[in-house]
Amino acid sequence: MSKIPFNKPFIAGKELYYIAQAVALGNIGGDGHFTRCCAALMEQRFGVGKILMTPSCTSALEMAGILCGLGPGDEVILPSYTFVSTASAICRVGAKPVFVDIRPDTLNLDERLVESAITPATKAIFPVHYAGVSAEMDTLLQLAARHDLWVVEDAAQGVNASYGKQSLGSLGHFGTFSFHETKNYMCGEGGALAINDPQFIQRAEIIRDKGTNRSQFFRGEVDKYTWVDIGSSYVPSEIACAFLYGQLEMMDEIADRRRQIYARYSFLLEDLQQAGILQRPHIPSGCQSNYHMFYILLEDGPTRDALLDHLRSRDIHAVFHYIPLHLSPVGRTFGYNDGDLPVTERVSRCLLRLPFYHELTREAQEMIVTEIRSFLLGRRNNRLAA
Ligand SMILES: *Cc1c(COP(=O)(O)O)cnc(C)c1O
Repeated sequence: MSKIPFNKPFIAGKELYYIAQAVALGNIGGDGHFTRCCAALMEQRFGVGKILMTPSCTSALEMAGILCGLGPGDEVILPSYTFVSTASAICRVGAKPVFVDIRPDTLNLDERLVESAITPATKAIFPVHYAGVSAEMDTLLQLAARHDLWVVEDAAQGVNASYGKQSLGSLGHFGTFSFHETKNYMCGEGGALAINDPQFIQRAEIIRDKGTNRSQFFRGEVDKYTWVDIGSSYVPSEIACAFLYGQLEMMDEIADRRRQIYARYSFLLEDLQQAGILQRPHIPSGCQSNYHMFYILLEDGPTRDALLDHLRSRDIHAVFHYIPLHLSPVGRTFGYNDGDLPVTERVSRCLLRLPFYHELTREAQEMIVTEIRSFLLGRRNNRLAA
């Protein structure tokens, strides 16, 4: 049996050609032709006023934190069940992460628990669109408006997904995207900041370019460029953007394939959900997923761990995530303990992500599910007999 990896970066076709073109154009630094192409394509497709390409989603989150004016003494509400960057970007600007539990269906920030976490120090909410399925944005945006909070969407996994008619990343004050090689559209490492409130555009351009007004200089708006604010090196290489443009151009084809893979897993696993053996992902009506991943929730941690080992023994590389951030070494320094966020902690023990990549074949999916089925039914029968 040949090995089934967890992820396999997909080359859509023109990536290397565009890199060669970038080299031929003579500008492989920042903000060249392909950087502008990527930003324009996403501004148009996602209905975002301004997209700034960045080296990663993490750097876009850091920029959002700076632009929101977050600092020491400020609190930011976010899920604990997320990748480290959502929280590390908040700490990077000196603010304090306040972790709230997730909904058991979408595994997104539980909007019903947010209001009670708001204090006079709360300045922002950073919802995450887990697996490319939107958090409950109407409720979160209403809460934010009522309490005068910034909303930064961590849409790292939500590129080309939507909530109602609006693209993820276009709903909050800011949205952040990732083009890491594990994401739907990728260039190895890459990201973008979506700015939905025009008052921030000018300062964002400055922070992104080492605190200089170079963007205004290139547009001819000022006659020299100089140091005007804090900032960092948040401009990606034109080479990465050239590669990414080859992927973004094929967005619909890539999305179609992911939808097929997701639908097949969902279909093949339906009876196991009906038998109460596992839970498949849930997409609320009104949310359009980008099918970033397919996961299953098992009945307990030992079952998840045993299934993971079983699949590995068959050379099928399923993976789990996340270690809850509130229980990480840094998270605990904020005073969190085991049991504080029960849904997060259960999901962390029970979730398994299945192999998911463009070239995953129907036969491979059938084989993966056959292994899952025989293992889980066997385990259940053994328990019943005991
Ligand atoms: C991947 C991911 C990130 C980090 O993205 P990078 O581009 O690697 O910085 C942040 N948040 C979430 C939810 C992610 O899945």
